[in-house]
Amino acid sequence: MQVIASLEELTKARQNWPRAGSLGFVPTMGYLHRGHLSLAQQARTENATVVASIFVNPTQFGPNEDLARYPRDLPRDLALLEGAGVDVVFTPEASAMYPPGFATYVEPTGTLAERLEAATRPGHFRGVATVVSKLFLLVGPDRAYFGQKDAQQVAIIRRMIADLNLPVDLRVMPIVREADGLAMSSRNAYLNPEQRVAATILSRALEAGRVAFDQQRNAGSTSPEAIAQVRKAMERALASESLAALDYADVCHPDTFVPLDAPTAPALLAIAAKVGPARLIDNYLLRADGSWDVGVRVGK
Ligand code: AMP
Repeated sequence: MQVIASLEELTKARQNWPRAGSLGFVPTMGYLHRGHLSLAQQARTENATVVASIFVNPTQFGPNEDLARYPRDLPRDLALLEGAGVDVVFTPEASAMYPPGFATYVEPTGTLAERLEAATRPGHFRGVATVVSKLFLLVGPDRAYFGQKDAQQVAIIRRMIADLNLPVDLRVMPIVREADGLAMSSRNAYLNPEQRVAATILSRALEAGRVAFDQQRNAGSTSPEAIAQVRKAMERALASESLAALDYADVCHPDTFVPLDAPTAPALLAIAAKVGPARLIDNYLLRADGSWDVGVRVGK
């Protein structure tokens, strides 16, 4: 496995990658867990060459967010990526990605870039869209692998690929969960043991939302009141955990993030809450065919 830190070295290395076969790319911010590795493993099965990146992107963090304390462990990450069969890891410095004078951003707009994560984290998706564009241009992938864990990010990248005619096939992998349902996240490292137990309330609230959604759907409800019931089911569940503070519980279209006015497929149940020092997000996806993607639980 080749580890490349400089942009020049990456450009040079690209000339030596196999011309035949596709290139799969897995962008990450490091401190890897089995969610990240599921993307790398899928990329390995579908491509001749697999490139991963580890870059804690400063432009997607707000001034009061956790950029400075975001967890890092490069030696461990590199060993995990090597184990997953990754060929090249790109680990650029922030000063190389954003040199003095940097002034050009990719700005998502519209409902997708205004609601939920965007509302709580102004500028976040501008940072994401900008860095993903830059990484796509630097790496030149045929396929890029993202996690459903970050549902709004997936929708933003899908929109960006279409809007900017980027020749990249977006591959989205299910949420990988701990055995007790907690969605894996690098930020789970912020939780103490008591908060770690409390954090399962996000997936439990989504489960309550799913049950309410299916009840309304099976009853043939078509009114906005049915959606309000689903939201309330999630809010009630979240409120039962005193260590968690709800940011939002939402029912929206998974591509546009427009709020739904009836319990129909496709749909996204999205939730965000603070548990101690960690702001956590999670979601359940109701696919267009009416089946749920609730992610996969893995054992210890
Ligand atoms: P991050 O390092 O948090 O920026 O995540 C890098 C990629 O891994 C993103 O596409 C995430 O959506 C994805 N990812 C993070 N957590 C999970 C998870 N629990 N299951 C699946 N994918 C994930």
